[in-house]
Amino acid sequence: MFTLNQFPLPYASDALVPYISQETLDLHHGKHVATYINNLNNLIKDTKYESVSLNQIIQDSAKNNDQKIFNNSAQIFNHQFFFNGMCNGCDAKIPDEIIKKFGSAENFKKQFKDSATALFGSGYTWLVKDGEDIKIINMPNADTPIVHGLKPLLTLDVWEHAYYVDYRNRRADFVDAFLDNLVNWDFVAENLK
Ligand code: FE
Repeated sequence: MFTLNQFPLPYASDALVPYISQETLDLHHGKHVATYINNLNNLIKDTKYESVSLNQIIQDSAKNNDQKIFNNSAQIFNHQFFFNGMCNGCDAKIPDEIIKKFGSAENFKKQFKDSATALFGSGYTWLVKDGEDIKIINMPNADTPIVHGLKPLLTLDVWEHAYYVDYRNRRADFVDAFLDNLVNWDFVAENLK
């Protein structure tokens, strides 16, 4: 059994105001993530998945094509990763490795924004390490880098539930708010190690 308490927000639900409202974070964490946890608990009850870690459930369900179990378990991981990658006013410095790869902070932002606004439907834009390379990739729905041999560094949830209360259909404005104000570069630097 998993519980929401095992996957807490790393800050208060009003900590990202004015870029992400308390209402959005309360819904996103308190309702959406809670639902994925509840669904997963029901799906794995009395199965081989019941006694293994969340990461193992994600890997095994991907291999076995257990789509519902994969979707709900991966969404728990993806959301935790998304929330942990944000902070408001934490003033961390963009890592040198990112500058080196993309040429400048501005160029990184442009490429990430182009990718996030081009993603059709629901999904995530990820910054990942692929071997020694660093890449920006889009993944649809609940798909996650950890089942493709990629190391996640940062992600932006661009499902409509992530921004519709605050930005309506203006996904590009949400992406700008994330890139300009919310990226926790210390978290990215930790993941680069
Ligand atoms: Fe979400």
